[in-house]
This record gives sequence, structure tokens and C-alpha cells, in this order.
Amino acid sequence: MNELDSEIMIGQLEQRGMHRIDDEETADLLIFNTCSIRDLAERKVMGKVGRMAKPNYRKHHRPLIGITGCMANAKKEKLFQKLPHIDFVLGTNNIHDLNNVLDEVLSSGTKVFRTADNFTHELDYQSAKRDDKLKAHISIIRGCDKFCTYCVVPYTRGPEVSRDPESIVLECQKLALEGYKEITLLGQNVNSYGKDKPEWNALFHDLLYRLNDIDGIERIHFMTSHPVDITRELMEAIRDLPKVCEFVHFPLQAGSNRILRKMHRIYTLEQYLEKVAMLREIVPNVALGTDIIVGFPTETDAEFEETRRMLEEIKYDTLFAFGYSQRQGTPAARWVDDVPEEIKQERLQILLKQQGGIDAAIRQKLLNTEMEILITEVSDRQPGFVKGRTRCWKNAILPGDNSMIGTLKKITINGYSNQTLLGA
Ligand code: SAH
Ligand code: SF4
Repeated sequence: MNELDSEIMIGQLEQRGMHRIDDEETADLLIFNTCSIRDLAERKVMGKVGRMAKPNYRKHHRPLIGITGCMANAKKEKLFQKLPHIDFVLGTNNIHDLNNVLDEVLSSGTKVFRTADNFTHELDYQSAKRDDKLKAHISIIRGCDKFCTYCVVPYTRGPEVSRDPESIVLECQKLALEGYKEITLLGQNVNSYGKDKPEWNALFHDLLYRLNDIDGIERIHFMTSHPVDITRELMEAIRDLPKVCEFVHFPLQAGSNRILRKMHRIYTLEQYLEKVAMLREIVPNVALGTDIIVGFPTETDAEFEETRRMLEEIKYDTLFAFGYSQRQGTPAARWVDDVPEEIKQERLQILLKQQGGIDAAIRQKLLNTEMEILITEVSDRQPGFVKGRTRCWKNAILPGDNSMIGTLKKITINGYSNQTLLGA
């Protein structure tokens, strides 16, 4: 979501004649589009921007510095106290105002700060400046109404606001004409799509049916989903729509009912497993992804073992695991962060090792099967080979050349090297 927001901001800046450069030393404007999800993400920004306060930092050509994204909403004007040398702070719901804010900073020479709680202004998605020419991120719903007790997103991005389906379809049609082949629909919880706008009569699966009809778009991905909102209609859409890829990010977060309740995930393990079983029955070749938090307040060794058991039972294709990070303003911040950092790190290592074994077994099973690859680039390390992705996000490499970029090819998997599938 942040990457897409950056692409939208770059598009807006181009409208005033600016262009993106990758050289921090000569840029006139530096924008830090930040993330608040864990403390480490925030510390990196504070460290990096903090170093720019030194008097000799680019003293002959001082750039304007802006902080945008979730940290802007989480810290608001406190950012000016901590980083007095920055020029503006612009929240996740104020991106549309970037050029006005810049004008104000330039004309008045004062600091400007805008961080609305709600997303009320539609963005100029059509002008987003994308680097990738084949794959595009598409925002379909912003914000989150779930309020998991550990999570800062409902506070930094505000309540859920779905985007008009006509605008989504138009953007995807335009991208298809430009040669884009793969779209990834984005939202904190894409499965809530349309619920805030009953008058549209368009829920997430309805949107998938419409997007599947767009000529030129070959693949549709989406992320991320809250298990509670994954419906039978969605599962059937994945089964029935040829362009919708058979991958569902299905974040479990923890393997114990007590911890799930404390996290306010609003499902039990039993309900979760029932959904997984239903999905696997309807879409037998579906690949699943998950997010896990280890070391949530009061999580015991035995409860961590329950998480391990769930990984073993479900066998996800993709795992993102995080050590719990206390976020100011969330309900969980009222509880003592009592699992020591070493234990969190140890639990993370255990999970990653366990997942390594599961990954290897999944890759082994893929040998001699046929997979469809979207070819995205030539390999610079292996002349005569091209790289691409399967429908379930796995990297693959196969013999080929430049002329194949942007095409789909069916290959038989004949080996793998680390995480990459090999085939021909
Ligand atoms: N809306 C998505 C998640 C967005 S955040 C969903 O519900 O699946 C991505 C992941 O970051 C979450 O799934 C969670 O595993 C992790 N995360 C969020 N807040 C966290 C925190 N305070 N500490 C550690 N991990 C966290
Ligand atoms: Fe955060 Fe939960 Fe919303 Fe995901 S569903 S963004 S974890 S509050």
C-alpha cells in the first residue's frame, strides 16, 4: 500500500514538473513515506532523517524534507519536535494535497502539517507513476475497521472506505491498454470491499467478476484478507474465474484460542480451520499465506507450540513472522510487553526453520508438475534464461530471451535452486 501511495505521490509531483531521481545528494525534495506497523520501521526513519539535522548535511543545497505515511498519522506534530529540520508532515489520508502543501511550504517558508483521520478525497490513481511495466498495484479499499488489539493501522489509516468500482475498472482497462498483465488488488482487508457502500451492490467477489472480463489483464491477485470475511462466494470466484490466481493470504496471527481472543481476531482456531478446509475443498490447488506474531503479551511456550502445530497442520506456502512490537495508542499497549526480546527472536528462528522444511516439501511436490509463468525479465546472472512468477507468487527461471517478456508460458518444473523453481 505504501509503495502504491509513493507511486501516486510521484505522479502528482510530475504534474508540477518534478521528476524522481535516485540520488539523495542532489534531490531538491526528499519524501519519507513511512510505515508504523512495528517499532523497527519507525526507528529506521527517525535515525535516517535525524542524521539530516546535522549542520553540515548538504549545507550548500538543503533539500525540502517531508514525512508522509503512517508515522505522520501516528506521531502528528510531535514529529516537528523530534525532527525540527523537516518541512512538512502529510498523513495517509492527505496524499491528494501534496502539491498544495508544497506550495504552502515554498511560499510561506513555514512548516505545514496535515493528518486527517478519515479518507475523504479520492486520489488521482490514473497519474500514478509506476516503475514496473507489467505488474500494477491497485487500491480498492483503504483503512481498517477490525481493531486487532496490537495493530496501529485503524488509527493511522482510519476507517474502511471502498473505492468506486467504476473507477477501479477504468484504471485496470487503462493499464491493460498500456500493456500491464498482472494486477494486485490492495486493501488492509480486501474482503470488506463494498460493505461500507451497500448502494453500489458490489462486494469483493462481484468486483473480481468484473475485472476478470478486462481483455489484456492476465492475472489478478489480491491482498490481504481477514479470515472472518473470506466468503464462499469469494472461494467460488477463485475457482471459476480463470484470471484470479489461486493464492490466498489468510493471516492466522497465533495458534492459540486464548491469544486469538486477546488479539481480538474475532475467530477461533476451529472456525479458521473450517474455512481453510472449505477453501481447499472448493479450490484444491490453492496456495495459502499467513502472518504470525510471536511473543504477544502473555504468550506462553505451550501457546507458541500451538502455533507450531498449526503451521505443521496447514502447511502454508508463504509465512511472514514478526516479533510482537508494542504500538502506542493500541489496546495491547496497556498490557506489559512481557515476553523478552530474546524469546521473541528465538521463537521467530524456530518458526522460520520449521517453515524452511515445509517449503522444501512443497517444492519437492511441484517437481514434474506443469506451472504457468508470467515472464517478467531476462536473467542477468544466467544468459539465455528468463525469470518470472507462478500464479502463486513463486519465482521461476526457464530458458528464454527478451522477446518472451510479458508473455505467459506453461513449463514443467524440473528442479529448484533455493527458493527459485527451475523448468522448461
Ligand atoms: N490487514 C492485514 C495486516 C496488515 S499488517 C491483516 O490483517 O492481515 C501486516 C502484519 O503485520 C499483520 O498481519 C501482523 O502479523 C503484523 N503486525 C501488525 N501489527 C503488529 C505489531 N504490533 N507487532 C508485530 N507485528 C504486527
Ligand atoms: Fe491491523 Fe487487524 Fe486491521 Fe489487519 S485486520 S490491519 S492486523 S487491525
